[in-house]
Parts: sequence; C-alpha cells; structure tokens
Amino acid sequence: MTILLTHAEQLLTLRDALGSRDARRGAQMRDLGIIQDGAVLISDGKIAAVGATDEVAGQLPDGRADVEEIDCHGKVVLPGFVDSHTHPVFTAPRLVDFEKRIAGASYEEIADAGGGIRASLSGVREASATDLAAHVAGALQQMAAQGTTTVEAKSGYGLSLESEIKSLEAIQRASKQWNGTVVPTLLGAHVVPPEYHDNPDEYVRLICEDIIPKVAARKLAEYVDVFCERGAFNPERTELVFRAAAQHKLGVRAHVCQLTTADLGPLMVFHPASLDHMDFVRDDDLPLLASSDTVATLLPAANYFLGLSAFPPARKLIDAGVAVALATDYNPGTAPTPSMPFVLSLACTQMKMLPAEAITAATYNGACALRLQHRKGSLEPGKDADIAIFEASDYRELAYWFGVNRCSGRVLKGAGPQRQVSHPPDSGD
Ligand SMILES: [Zn+2]
Repeated sequence: MTILLTHAEQLLTLRDALGSRDARRGAQMRDLGIIQDGAVLISDGKIAAVGATDEVAGQLPDGRADVEEIDCHGKVVLPGFVDSHTHPVFTAPRLVDFEKRIAGASYEEIADAGGGIRASLSGVREASATDLAAHVAGALQQMAAQGTTTVEAKSGYGLSLESEIKSLEAIQRASKQWNGTVVPTLLGAHVVPPEYHDNPDEYVRLICEDIIPKVAARKLAEYVDVFCERGAFNPERTELVFRAAAQHKLGVRAHVCQLTTADLGPLMVFHPASLDHMDFVRDDDLPLLASSDTVATLLPAANYFLGLSAFPPARKLIDAGVAVALATDYNPGTAPTPSMPFVLSLACTQMKMLPAEAITAATYNGACALRLQHRKGSLEPGKDADIAIFEASDYRELAYWFGVNRCSGRVLKGAGPQRQVSHPPDSGD
C-alpha cells in the first residue's frame, strides 16, 4: 500500500542536516527541519520520500491507482510523538489520593485512607491478564488519538513475580492489538511491596535472581527501570538491579532526582538509556550527562498534577548540553494524562522551553531515550512511517492550544510487515 501526504503547511522532518544519529542538544533542539508545502511518500509502512510536494509527487511510479493521497492543506505534519515513559498497567483511577491531596492530606494520611500505590497494587494483583490488557489497549488508543505513535510501557503495580509477569504479558497483548510501537519495561523495583517492608534486600534479591531472569528468558521486556529515591530504592540497591539487568542483556533506565538529589556517577556506569524526572539533578552531574548519550527525560505532568510550583529544570539541562526528552509519565497516582500536546504546553509555559525545543524533546529525543532513533523520531526515507497530523498552520500551535485535541490524523506503522499502515489519517477525534 502506498500513501502520499501532500501540501502540508509545515512538514517538520526533524532530520539532521549532517545525518547524525546523536540525540539533539543545545541549539540543535531548535531546528525542526521544516519544509513548506511538504509531502511524505509512504510505501509498505516505511517512509519512501520526503520533500516539497512537487518534488515528491514527481517520484511516484507510473499509474497512481493504488496510491491513497491525503491532502494536508492547513495542517502541520510531524513524526508521531514518542512517549518514552508511561505506566499504563493499572485498573482504576486513584480518586482517594486526588481528593485527599486537594484537602491537604499527607502521603501517609492518603495511604491510611486506602489510597497510594497500594490501591493500584491490589487492583493489579486481583485483575485478570485479559482485563489488564484491555486497560493498556485503551490507554494506547487515547495516546494515539493525541498524536503518539511509540510508547514505552512499564509494569510496576504488581510487585511480585506472578503479577509483574502478568503486567508485562498485558502490555504484550495490548501491543499486538495496536498499530503503533510499544517498548516494554520491567519496573519491579517501583516500591518495596508491603510483604517485604521489613526486608527490602530480600525483595531486591527476588527481582535480581528470579524476576529479571524469567522476564529476560521470555523476552517480555527490553528495559529494567528502578525508582531510585528516598522511600523506594537507594543507590546501592539500584546498582544491584542494574547489574542483574545487564547480565541478562536488558537495557536500564531509572526514575531519579524526583524528590531528592542523587549522585548519578555510579548509575552512569551502567549506560542508562534515560534518567527520568531529574527535578533535583545536581549541577556537578551536568558535564557527565552532557558527555554521555543518556537522555534526561522530563515529566512535567506529574509536577502539574501534584500541584507543585517547581518544574524540572529544562533550561539548565539544555544549556549545559544535556539531551532532553519529554514524556507524559501516564499513571494513576501522579500523571493521569495520555496527552503529549499537554506536556508540550507545560514544557513551554512552566519550564521555558521554546516550542521547537519541546517538539524535538517529544519526538527525536524521545526516540533516543528508547534507543530507537534509527527507526523513529524523524521523517526520513527508510524510517518507520509514524506520523501525526495537526490542525494548525504553524508548529508553535502544537504547544499553544491546550485542553483541546487538535491532532486530526495519524499514521502508525509498527514494527514489521504484519503491521502495515492501518490507521490512515481520519477526520479527527
Ligand atoms: Zn514514572
């Protein structure tokens, strides 16, 4: 099947003029590779040509009968968003937390009232794999409706061998029902579950010696994540989990510096694909980050939802040359949003990122945070045809409008020939 998108008001290619596959840093984040009156030719799920409409239409083979042409007048066309940090495996919203927090309750008071992570834990442990998969599939659909075509999806509300495996199976099942791309991550080290409260080292042993080997053997995850934070897993336990992941040839990533500072040096030894949140990153760790290919993934929807006045220090990171990505952190406790455009809005208004920087962080650098930039994150021949179409004539509108979904179409290629383009752009959601 061949699809031709034509006459995009602005086509944001995100291609690098020199063909680099490194994450974008500093001033590079402001270059979106814009083509006016742009076109994209898609063949068998891959991008075949990108350029001005005249130029690309001229490359069509003779006899255009099997070409589906989509007129993108009045639209901005860009690579689908790469949401590189989500927690979609849960069963119910955490409304007790929400209301109690509004009323000023502390974390402990919320937990005593039946809220907090334990509420999600019992929901996931009791749910069937079928029900969990249905929840994940629903989330993926909502994300795609807002222009997301690649999603990193974590387990982490089961916290036992059985329920972490069940959560990853749910992600796998949901990903097969979706035409986008899903990158599964084991987050067994989210918090210490109640039954190991008095013996966290025993839980770390379970993760390292039982859960990680089984997950790796069944290829249920590509990454292992750790919530490295006060009240969760300290740096020493994080290193143990990272070491086990590396032994089983899984990539690593971490939630870190969300609530407190941490020394990133020992974690960087394991070459994490991404370090996420980074609200309290220390200035003396910036040169180390800037000289690595580890991406700092910022999650401002969590700050918003928790009612915080401080947001992740995007300017400091970008100005130091650190590769910055943006993601939703979609989860029931602190960021119940599937919307990357909303995250763009927060990045610009609260973190002083320029609209172009935010778009780069949500596409190309998001792909780098999953080490998928050879396939995702920019519109270039040979890459997966993952495309979002927005009702806008200027890219800055993507971050300007909020509380409304202006994504009017999308193309999701997925990973292989069994997943041909199957969501051609539609008339809107
Ligand atoms: Zn998270």
